[in-house]
Amino acid sequence: MAFEGSIDLKQELSDLLKSEGRQMFLRQKRGTQRCACWNDLTKEGDRECPRCSGFGWPYVDKKIWARIEVATQPTSGAYRNPPGAPGFSFVDEYVVYFEQTSQTNVNASVNDWIVECKTKTDGTLWPPYKIERVWDVNEVIDYRENKGQFSFYALRCRRLGLGK
Ligand SMILES: [Zn+2]
Repeated sequence: MAFEGSIDLKQELSDLLKSEGRQMFLRQKRGTQRCACWNDLTKEGDRECPRCSGFGWPYVDKKIWARIEVATQPTSGAYRNPPGAPGFSFVDEYVVYFEQTSQTNVNASVNDWIVECKTKTDGTLWPPYKIERVWDVNEVIDYRENKGQFSFYALRCRRLGLGK
């Protein structure tokens, strides 16, 4: 993906996010201590845990406005299942794009998760939050460094089963 020096592209991405994005949570670990519910033998947290909902880490959720799509260039090992019939994708690697704004002043990292919840038709979150999908962030591509003009993150993600 080439992002070099194009203000138009920034605007395009921004528009795309506005029209086709939705609100999600960027879930970030707090601290370096596992949650008290974490079972080191089973490598699982307690789904009923009020502190971490089974994630095994205390966390903080930050709202982002993002778009999620299938990764067009899967990294090696991205195929968990053999390729299926044409038109059906079995790739479980996705990319989440979001724009860094003053409201979403967050620094994404590979320790984060993306949490997709039920949203209204306008894309905003619909409380009480009902989790639809959780994604494990595997790679963070930060476009802010491109001449200082860009403020986009692209996160390569894998879908995560809850309680794993
Ligand atoms: Zn817990």
